[in-house]
Amino acid sequence: MNSARKYIDLHVHTNYSDGTFTPQEVSRYALEIELAAIAITDHDCVDGILPAMEEAKDRGLEIIPGVELSAEIGDFEVHIIGLLIDWQDSWFNEQLKKIRNARIERMQKMVEKLNSLGIGIKMEEVMALSRDEGAVGRLHLARALHEGGFTHSIRQAFARFIGRPGPCYVKRMIISPKEVIDMIRRVKGIPVFAHPGNMHHDEVIPELVNYGLMGIEVLHIDHNSSASNHYKQLAQEHGLLLSGGSDCHGVGKGYPLMGRVEVPYSFLEKIKEAKKREYEE
Ligand code: AMP
Ligand code: FE
Ligand code: FE
Ligand code: ZN
Repeated sequence: MNSARKYIDLHVHTNYSDGTFTPQEVSRYALEIELAAIAITDHDCVDGILPAMEEAKDRGLEIIPGVELSAEIGDFEVHIIGLLIDWQDSWFNEQLKKIRNARIERMQKMVEKLNSLGIGIKMEEVMALSRDEGAVGRLHLARALHEGGFTHSIRQAFARFIGRPGPCYVKRMIISPKEVIDMIRRVKGIPVFAHPGNMHHDEVIPELVNYGLMGIEVLHIDHNSSASNHYKQLAQEHGLLLSGGSDCHGVGKGYPLMGRVEVPYSFLEKIKEAKKREYEE
């Protein structure tokens, strides 16, 4: 491996969920900034993995198959990333398809709530920003609201209407953290607690560990160094692997975040070793 390429990014979205870059653009961008490996972790969708791999093939960029799933715990949610999953598993793909279909129905409800408040947004306008077989979500809706002139910014769309809680927020299909972790483990993935610093519910970590959580995202664009240190310490206490990524959504949140969090390649090496120990020995 080229010694300049020592950083990785284990949390990247494409336009198969709510990122704005195609998988090919994601791979090209990662190559441009000389990352050694990236994980494609779309919400509820794994279809961006193969095109990203094809673009990166023989160019010195490793593509780690991943996914980001959301679980409900009472009135809050946690996001769990699955790394090194067997992404071609047909059972897994069927489950994801059901979750994505439920996202479409949920989007319809959010649009209706907005319409009832006099916001003339149309379902087609939201769906036009999402790929046909992709995972449609609130970031698409926020972009549609902004582009339609209904809000001054994407941020304002969340703050006024679709943030949690907000007048037009609707829950996704309810899946428990145990179900999410089971799903990832069934396809031999490493379940990682995503951006715990954004979730403000560290008390759930022991419960997640009981269900089979194996890692925690200590480095994330929204974690300052004290948050990172805090989660490194928790990782050590609970025997969890360290993960890290930018949560890049292309230009969906302003500008590309890929590579802005310096994640060492050693994190990935340990994750790979854990996968071998857990599933192959
Ligand atoms: P969903 O899974 O459809 O509920 O959408 C959640 C996604 O919306 C997150 O993964 C983020 O990408 C995005 N998101 C949530 N809150 C905000 C916010 N306040 N500003 C920008 N993006 C947000
Ligand atoms: Fe997202
Ligand atoms: Fe997330
Ligand atoms: Zn994410």
